[in-house]
Amino acid sequence: MARLEPPQLIDPFQRAITYLRVSVTDRCDFRCLYCMAEEMTFLPKRDLLSLEELDRLCTNFIELGVRKLRITGGEPLVRKNIMWFFDRMGRHLGDGALDELTLTTNGSQLSRFAKTLAHAGVKRVNVSLDTLDEAKFKRITRWGRLAQVLDGIEAAQAAGLRVKINTVALKGTNDGEIHRLVEWCDAQGMDLTFIEVMPMGDLGNEDRLDQYYPLDQLRADLGERWTLTETDYRTGGPARYFRVEETGQRIGFITPLTHNFCESCNRVRLTCTGQLYMCLGQDDDADLRKVMRSGADDAGVKAAIGEAITRKPKGHDFDYSRQQVDGQVGRHMSVTGG
Ligand code: SAM
Ligand code: SF4
Repeated sequence: MARLEPPQLIDPFQRAITYLRVSVTDRCDFRCLYCMAEEMTFLPKRDLLSLEELDRLCTNFIELGVRKLRITGGEPLVRKNIMWFFDRMGRHLGDGALDELTLTTNGSQLSRFAKTLAHAGVKRVNVSLDTLDEAKFKRITRWGRLAQVLDGIEAAQAAGLRVKINTVALKGTNDGEIHRLVEWCDAQGMDLTFIEVMPMGDLGNEDRLDQYYPLDQLRADLGERWTLTETDYRTGGPARYFRVEETGQRIGFITPLTHNFCESCNRVRLTCTGQLYMCLGQDDDADLRKVMRSGADDAGVKAAIGEAITRKPKGHDFDYSRQQVDGQVGRHMSVTGG
């Protein structure tokens, strides 16, 4: 008998929503300058979706046609018992309902969890790392230790996970290190993606503009040493990929501010409190925690998800071009999930 295809989540602009990013906690063991304040007040536990609620909600999304799940935070690996949740999601890989289960992590806990993640069916991880210099690493993350992250990356590779490095481009911080990062990633057999700093969270506008290192500039700077050829490789996300001819490695550029990537957007984001954001750059959301806690059955949860998708906007409004941060949204990246 032919397998029944799950119903599709199609938004008003005919984009199929097949990718869900889920923040499982707002907490983190780092305090990166561009993401969090040093003194953070985290959400009370009752506000967070429980792991069982996360399981139920993600399963409903998968039954509605989501094929790729990315777990993020905050730092996803500091959430207590999070391996239980990865295991639960792994069952959807096993039965073919999900194509990919992956996570974005700061790498600090990978030494502990890499094997268990691989066992749950995770094949790739994105590790955020902005510098290979211990002192700079400390300055950017405030609380992090570079050696612990490097050990975590090694453990991930030893467990058979493919590692991609995500580097936020920061003027005056890691702009002198871009060639070294390319070389290092090549030597380790890892892809590298540069991310433009986004106007999120509560740092002042001035700070944000000081740190702003446009990726067009970064790419031109890389071009002084490497031959970059644009490829048509796409992941359905905002990254554009180039091949480094000298090494053959792939380098991605995520430029949400200087290039519009919205037409091909296939994703929505769930916060750790169960708010569904249809667009990273817009404030409209749907309160799925309220739906679940008011006693809705799975059909009711699916109806609420479907209704939210009908509100997915065409695109976002970030704009640095007038030398002020327009279209800024007030919530933290760590709550929405980067
Ligand atoms: N803690 C994990 C980590 O750092 O990978 C996952 C959550 S973190 C919020 C996800 C990604 O968002 C990281 O790659 C981080 O560098 C990025 N990020 C955080 N704040 C950002 C900002 N203001 N602009 C651009 N990227 C940001
Ligand atoms: Fe934590 Fe990731 Fe935010 Fe850094 S970017 S403070 S590691 S959540």
